[in-house]
Amino acid sequence: MWINQPGQISEHASMLGSMAFPCYLIKGERSALIDAGITSLAPLLRQEFARDKLILNYVLVTHSHFDHVGGLGVIRELAPRAIVVGSAKATALLSKRKVYDFILSMNRAGEESYQLANLIGQEQIRLQPDDLRVDRVVGQGDVIDLGQGVSLEVHLTPGHTKCSVSYLLKPDRVLFGGDGLGAHLSADQVGSQFTSSYHKYIDSLRKIQKMDLAAIGLPHQGVLTENDADRHIKTAIRCAEEHFAAISQELADGKSVKEITEILFDRHYKGIALMEPEKAFRINLQAMVNVVSKEQSTQG
Ligand SMILES: [Zn+2]
Repeated sequence: MWINQPGQISEHASMLGSMAFPCYLIKGERSALIDAGITSLAPLLRQEFARDKLILNYVLVTHSHFDHVGGLGVIRELAPRAIVVGSAKATALLSKRKVYDFILSMNRAGEESYQLANLIGQEQIRLQPDDLRVDRVVGQGDVIDLGQGVSLEVHLTPGHTKCSVSYLLKPDRVLFGGDGLGAHLSADQVGSQFTSSYHKYIDSLRKIQKMDLAAIGLPHQGVLTENDADRHIKTAIRCAEEHFAAISQELADGKSVKEITEILFDRHYKGIALMEPEKAFRINLQAMVNVVSKEQSTQG
């Protein structure tokens, strides 16, 4: 099943926000939010916090990209005691002024292109460098205990970025994996996201494939359950292999990184992929072409 509307997704988890930028809320005795979305979710987050009188204990960051940490400014205001959790690599990246500046500029650009303001209202962007601070660094196998038998297990899943982690919700068996899960385009197409390393991206997907999952919470395309979740991971691996091969072929034909990026842009920027702003889509494509050019020599 494909769940593409906000609401309950498993016994302890629900989707807040919009399908394109969900924040997943997990509730045990304590509560945690998976990812912080983009800055323009602010009015919606305010509503959610007010409706439930929500007291948030944790924000679990899957990776350091602008559309997963942009909402941290408003969340710090709404839940000043919430502990922000991320990998060691995310912690290092998010403490850099240059990274903050980029995150802010991408959110500013996003506010216009996503047009969320028309849907949910607008407020001034609230994001200070210190809002991006990671308060608790986690590594492979660490557990965030929410009480009442509910917990989130940390799995390092690099490949989309070096800092990517996935959180496995127990006992629900739902995995929240950020963009490392690939982008759901259709039943047999998953957009590749190996913007940091192709080999690590494939390794991470294979690691996820071995887990016994009831559902996967995608970063921008809702939730897939049971067979659809299994098929998605399998398809993500196949599509990444095909994408790698296609880029390798263009490189072998002597085309430049820029030329290949444009060829791929025309081929792939359509349908549900249009939910992503053009600039971010192009940056990701170019990163993948660079990855292939770097890693193809080491492919065995
Ligand atoms: Zn990302």
